[in-house]
Amino acid sequence: MSADPTGIIRAMGETGESQLADNLARVQERIAAAARRVGRNPAEVTLIAVTKTVPWERAQAVLALGVRHLGENRVQEAEAKYAGGLPPDVTLHLIGHLQTNKARAAARLFQLIHSLDRARLAELLEQEARGLPRPLPALLQVNVAGEASKFGLAAAEVPAAVDSFAYLPHLDLQGLMTIAPLAQNPEDVRWVFRGLRELRDQLRQRHPSLALPHLSMGMTDDYPIAIEEGATLVRVGRAIFGARGEGPPRS
Ligand SMILES: *Cc1c(COP(=O)(O)O)cnc(C)c1O
Repeated sequence: MSADPTGIIRAMGETGESQLADNLARVQERIAAAARRVGRNPAEVTLIAVTKTVPWERAQAVLALGVRHLGENRVQEAEAKYAGGLPPDVTLHLIGHLQTNKARAAARLFQLIHSLDRARLAELLEQEARGLPRPLPALLQVNVAGEASKFGLAAAEVPAAVDSFAYLPHLDLQGLMTIAPLAQNPEDVRWVFRGLRELRDQLRQRHPSLALPHLSMGMTDDYPIAIEEGATLVRVGRAIFGARGEGPPRS
């Protein structure tokens, strides 16, 4: 698009620019270190910079720093922010709950839907994706920890959901996503990430034709643990942009 990201960074001022670059570099280092700890290639892990509540200018600034994946949790906010378009090599991820009446807009705006969690939504996305040049990539959201406050299929519901959604011709089921419970110590939610990976491995055995390459798991507080357990997509907001509604972290 026409915006000059470098000029925007300059407009943010020296502090904003260097702080954002430092934060991003630190996250990238921790991603690589976590991957190496378990003998994984760091290139297997994709960082999604979560730009919910983050102004457009700062999203542009992380793009200028080389990030190529952005995540938003609300269709309307994403439409407003990115209505002017994004560079063609940038992937926009929907990481939040998707209401049925937003399925059409979501199918057009996002290149990966992380929150497929019910049959009705699968049907609607399938319909919307008929008009797209290629099948719409999606992940099944799984509520591994069974929290009442969270969206997602129960782990026990996932095999049946895969049986019915995986073979819709215009949906491209690429794996699973989960959000871990809040925890003081990220080690306390390792079992959630391990559970998602084990579920994916079981699904692969049951459906040898499905690669299910992606595990979307890990946020600011727990992404290194998620990577140790096999995450291929980590969704990081605060560690890059600072606490939402405030400036970047001081240290
Ligand atoms: C906000 C959000 C994130 C990023 O959270 P941080 O703690 O800021 O890293 C990741 N995933 C989902 C689904 C979110 O809503």
